[in-house]
Amino acid sequence: MDIGKVYLERHGFDGIFRSSYELLTTECVGNVFGHTSHKKSGDIWVIESALPIQRVRRTSKDICIGSDKVLHRSRLALSNVPIGDYHSHILFNEKKGKKIDTYLPVISLSEEDKEDLKEWGNNISLIMALKETPRITRLGNNPFLLTGHIRDNGSIYRIEIGAFYYNGRMRKALIKADKKVLDSIR
Ligand SMILES: [Zn+2]
Repeated sequence: MDIGKVYLERHGFDGIFRSSYELLTTECVGNVFGHTSHKKSGDIWVIESALPIQRVRRTSKDICIGSDKVLHRSRLALSNVPIGDYHSHILFNEKKGKKIDTYLPVISLSEEDKEDLKEWGNNISLIMALKETPRITRLGNNPFLLTGHIRDNGSIYRIEIGAFYYNGRMRKALIKADKKVLDSIR
């Protein structure tokens, strides 16, 4: 069966996590770098590093880079070509325009995300959610979702990362991480 797989190496995970952690209540976005291979069983994206992008347009539902994304990608392509991107999801209360305190934002594609994925076919798009939580909660066993907890000075944060790609239709990729990553979040 043709299923894409994402492998998060330590520096790739750290890059994505750090940019989200610094902007805990603000969405973050960036590019991921590494290598891809095309196997009969499905494409594989190995994420070796991640680099945040500062210039984004925020909407009530999501964040958009729009034409800026083209700009960033073409510049970065001079030295290194991104194999995909990542961004975080934060829930808003649209009526009041405020963030609401829900358990975790849903790791799923917004309409903007879908358009973006179609446009950048063959790229992987990671969505992450990070939220402070009062206690360690049970981790599911979903191979399409990387979940865990991070502890920092007595605070606990729950992290979830999902990966998506487009190959004629929107698909979720299986997501795996380096053992050191798993040891740090489980
Ligand atoms: Zn999104």
